[in-house]
Amino acid sequence: MPDIKCSVSECKFNSEMSCGAPMIQVDRNGVSKASQSLQTKCETFKPRS
Ligand code: SF4
Repeated sequence: MPDIKCSVSECKFNSEMSCGAPMIQVDRNGVSKASQSLQTKCETFKPRS
């Protein structure tokens, strides 16, 4: 797994702006063909409880 830099500090997998999940899934965000990063999203996100 490569290092994944992520600024979503409210995700439970995030530690010091780095992703600590064993794997992540990224999908298109409501479009059939993405042409910019805004059209993608991390599905592995889980809020801190
Ligand atoms: S699971 Fe996704 S949102 Fe959460 S820290 Fe990793 S890359 Fe960021």
